Amino acid sequence: MYKPEEHNVICTVCPIGCRLTVIREEHEPDGYKVIGGVCKRGEKFGVKEVTNPTRTVTSTVAIEGGLLPRLPVRTEKDIPKHLNYELMKLINQVKLQAPVKIGEVVVANVFDTGVNVIATRSMRAVK
Ligand code: SF4
Repeated sequence: MYKPEEHNVICTVCPIGCRLTVIREEHEPDGYKVIGGVCKRGEKFGVKEVTNPTRTVTSTVAIEGGLLPRLPVRTEKDIPKHLNYELMKLINQVKLQAPVKIGEVVVANVFDTGVNVIATRSMRAVK
């Protein structure tokens, strides 16, 4: 019996977290029908999640000579989800020296995606 390709995903666009079912339907404009979401943003998310999932990565990196031992960072934009693990390994090797300004590039062009990892707060040097 034919059973269409079907994926269950949780929408992360807003805190409601709707449970979506994404079903392959060739006659749909995007090639998929999305059910279970409350709004159009969820439909877009559901299709993207099964065709090209991406994430913004947030973390911290080691910093020396600053007020705190870790500095919060994030990717400027989403990167392909399959790169998240490798990016976390890369971020764990970074060691900065204070001072650092908010928005400063910490890792440039990660894995040739054109996306930088940036500082999300400033950290002044302490004497
Ligand atoms: S479908 Fe809409 S309401 Fe539901 S979690 Fe996604 S963005 Fe929020």
